[in-house]
Order: sequence, then C-alpha cells, then structure tokens
Amino acid sequence: WAKAEGRGRWAVYDPERSARDQARSALAAGLPGALDRDEFVVHYQPIVSLADGRMLAVEALVRWQHPELGLIGPDRFIGLAEETGLIVRVGQWVLERACRDAAGWRAAHPDTTPVVSVNLAARQADDPGIVDTVARALTDSGLSAELLQLELTESAVMGTTGEPLRSLRRLAALGVRLAIDDFGTGYSNLAYLRRLPIHCLKLAAPFVEGIRAAGDNRDEQIVDALVRLAHALDLRVTAEAVETGVQAERLRALGCDTGQGRLFGAPVEATEIAARLAETDGGRRWT
Ligand code: C2E
Ligand code: MG
Ligand code: MG
Ligand code: MG
Repeated sequence: WAKAEGRGRWAVYDPERSARDQARSALAAGLPGALDRDEFVVHYQPIVSLADGRMLAVEALVRWQHPELGLIGPDRFIGLAEETGLIVRVGQWVLERACRDAAGWRAAHPDTTPVVSVNLAARQADDPGIVDTVARALTDSGLSAELLQLELTESAVMGTTGEPLRSLRRLAALGVRLAIDDFGTGYSNLAYLRRLPIHCLKLAAPFVEGIRAAGDNRDEQIVDALVRLAHALDLRVTAEAVETGVQAERLRALGCDTGQGRLFGAPVEATEIAARLAETDGGRRWT
C-alpha cells in the first residue's frame, strides 16, 4: 500500500483520495456539455434587513442538476469551471437567468422587488466583454440596473488596474451595485478599497460563526470594527451565514445592515421567492 517515490521518499496510497479524484474527473467530463444540456439551475437565498426583516435582496447561487449524481453544489464544480475557463459562459448564463427572474418578480411586485445579487468570478471580471455582457443582460430582461448587484471576491478586485478597473467603473456607472464577497478572508488593501466603486461588503462566514452570545468576544470586536470601517467609507454591510437568532441580534446591535443565512431561509427556486413576495405584499414582514 505504499510505494517508493524516488530515493527515500514514500507516498501512501489513500483510497479516499483516489475516490475523490475519480468523482472529480467524472464531473470534469460532464461539465463542458452541461450548459447545452440545460443542466444548471439557479437558486436564490434571501438577504434581509436586520432592522425590520424585509427581504431587500436575494443572492443567485448556481447548482448543477446532474443526470446521475443529482443536485450538485457550486463548491464541487465552480473551481473546475474556473480552471477550464468555462466559468465565463456558465457565469453569463447565471447572470441572464437571474436578470430574467428578477424582472419577473419586478413585474408582479413592483414595490417590494429584491435586488438580485450575482457572483462574478475573477475571470469574468477580467473579460474585456464583461460590461457589454451585463448591459445586454439588463436590456434583454428589461431589469433596471439598480436591481442588479455583482459580487466579487477581494482577490478578484484588489490591485486591479487598467482595463479591469475601468470595467468596474463602467459597471458602476450603469447603475449596477458592486459588492465584495467573503470580505475579511482575503487580502484587502484599505487605501485601494476607497478607490473602488463598491456599494457593499459581505462579511465572511467565519466572523459571523464566531458570534455566539452577547458579550465581548474577539470576533464580535472584529465585526464591530469592520462595520464602522464600512460605514465610514459609506458602504453597506451584509453578514453571511447567519444561523442563529443570537447572531442576528448581535449583528443588528453592531449596526450590520443586512443578513443572509439559514436563519432567514435557505436558497430556493425563483417561484418560491415569488411566493414569499406575494405573502409580504399584504404588509406582512418576511421574518
Ligand atoms: P458565496 O457567494 O459566499 O455564497 C454563500 C454560500 O453560503 C452559499 O453556498 C450558501 O448556500 C451558503 N450558505 C447559506 N446559508 C448558510 C448558513 O446559514 N451557514 C453557512 N455556513 N453557509 C450558508 P453555495 O450555494 O454552496 O455556494 C458556494 C460558493 O460557490 C458561493 O459562495 C460562491 O462563491 C460560489 N458560487 C455560487 N454560485 C456561483 C455563480 O453563479 N458564479 C460564481 N462565480 N460562483 C458561484
Ligand atoms: Mg455548498
Ligand atoms: Mg456570493
Ligand atoms: Mg460569500
């Protein structure tokens, strides 16, 4: 079960690892045709106001309805799609789908339509055609730019110069909102952050996870500082992965604007979001 790998070096055969590699190869083989076979679906997770519970936005999260393996989460195929460059086409498909769904909610519920927030991979943001792609998705769906937010990771935007930075500025000029996803997990240059046309920071799950009970713990102090920093830069703050009422209450007390997570609802199909909008039309709060 162990074989020599050159002089004095040993590699241990790991059956779990090879099973994982096999599953990965199976996914990699099916991925290129998945778009043409129409196997991707988009689910939407509510983002609610911590002050009053209204659903102000939803995040579009892609899933792969695999013919044999069932519904597969993005953590298992987005990395592959990024490596192969396929993410540019998949991401465009998600964007178009999300804009059409949001335009549908808008038509039925003009006063309470949530902003739709779409993840943009670094390769998409760097693509010279990104501004045209976004502009066309808005025109084709009839969605107004203010109802679209694009989420980029710190690593995708930090240090961006030249054409990609101009793209971000042009997207912002269209009226589209930009958010930094998983904020606090990567490297952010605060001086640089100020120069970006960003609307919102999404606080990464680990900080929210660290908030357990009222009282001062280190994660709560970090969130406190980050919220102050964001507000000083005139940015809104969304907390990700909010799972408990205690977390929601502490985040609200710290001035965090919106929250997203199991507490407020898992990602669901577009029709389910429409049903929730219909429920709240009569003035009912969503939470
Ligand atoms: P993300 O953008 O940070 O999305 C939030 C993730 O947190 C989602 O995972 C969501 O289902 C999960 N989540 C929801 N509620 C909770 C909770 O209460 N606790 C915790 N711990 N997590 C929660 P999901 O759907 O598996 O997506 C994983 C990642 O895949 C996303 O992370 C995003 O980076 C990427 N992704 C998803 N859709 C797309 C897409 O269309 N394009 C690109 N480029 N990336 C995508
Ligand atoms: Mg997942
Ligand atoms: Mg995201
Ligand atoms: Mg995130």
